[in-house]
Amino acid sequence: MRSKNNIPLINPDLPLYRTLEKDIRDIIHSKQLTKGKYLAKLEARIAKYLGVEYAVGVSSCTLGLMLVLKCLDLQGEIIIPSFTFIATAEAILWNNLKPVFVDINGETLNLDPEKIEAAITPKTSAILAVHVFGNPANIKALRAIAWKHKLKLIYDSAHAFGAKYKSKFIGGFGNAEVFSLSPTKLLITGEGGLITTNDKTLANNLVRARDYGGSGNGEYNLLGLNSRLGEFNAILGLQGLKRIKTAVVQRNKIAGVYKKYLSKIDGIKFQFSEKDNLCAYKDFAIIIDGKKFGLKRDKLIKRLTAGDIETRRYFDPPLHRQPIIRKYRFRENDLTVTEEISSAIICLPIWSSMDTETALKICRVIEAAHNHAK
Ligand SMILES: *Cc1c(COP(=O)(O)O)cnc(C)c1O
Repeated sequence: MRSKNNIPLINPDLPLYRTLEKDIRDIIHSKQLTKGKYLAKLEARIAKYLGVEYAVGVSSCTLGLMLVLKCLDLQGEIIIPSFTFIATAEAILWNNLKPVFVDINGETLNLDPEKIEAAITPKTSAILAVHVFGNPANIKALRAIAWKHKLKLIYDSAHAFGAKYKSKFIGGFGNAEVFSLSPTKLLITGEGGLITTNDKTLANNLVRARDYGGSGNGEYNLLGLNSRLGEFNAILGLQGLKRIKTAVVQRNKIAGVYKKYLSKIDGIKFQFSEKDNLCAYKDFAIIIDGKKFGLKRDKLIKRLTAGDIETRRYFDPPLHRQPIIRKYRFRENDLTVTEEISSAIICLPIWSSMDTETALKICRVIEAAHNHAK
């Protein structure tokens, strides 16, 4: 049981029941539980909000990624970071494709474009980049590499709803982007995912593939599955969308408080986000230099836990050290930075309705741990 003083890592921002009540009643009365008007409305609103041509709702980001890889008919090897959530690689493996792990940049924590070309082989068919913790990837450099080598470019945008690259929302870059709408992310439908693209053919195929691959006249000529997003889930997303802008603003405010306070303490580094980008801060990460800070990362986590503050080691271990990935015995590139960051990172509590005082309380616990270590 959580104590009263517990500060959780996440705290899903859900709409008030009364804002959902009318739509819930409507769904029950109409008996249209899936493939109905609320999903269509959610897709239209999100496409408009993000400024993309097509938004395709699915039952999870993992399935969305699986469908995108399938519908783009990719073969061979896919370049991805090892510093991401397991689902990025699982979507590749379910397609019988091979993930090729490339190192990250130690400042942005995103795929390092400078290390990608060395990993490209004649078998490479795509780059699947991640906007880690909601921090937009180096899109310009990734686009140039993809274009030069004729590779598809896909983004796992699970963390990045509401984030902006330059002045444009994440969602319209590459061949497709895939968001997660699960409870740990910014826009929540319960379970759910969303694919955005400006490619009409791809969008049409995705709509069919999420519904067993049918063409509508009893013929099945596409390998599909069932990954539809239900109507009850869609109404959560419709309400959540109204709050997304303030959610991102509030998360940036909290991140600002953390940075201001913690930057005074030796041995703490932050994820770097370009000034002209907007980070969604799905997570707020600190990177601990044990020698300078005076305590090793895991010792600091113990202190925070003792102070009833929940943290997470995202992403430790990184994917290339996960048992299911090791089983495949893929060839390994140099992943030095990934290893360094994974062993030093802590994700601190952050959520869309978090107040400044809660962030300050966490900062004080970290400061005390540092002071007592000396
Ligand atoms: C959460 C997450 C996913 C999976 O999302 P689901 O909607 O739970 O399938 C994929 N990639 C990343 C980077 C994630 O954090």
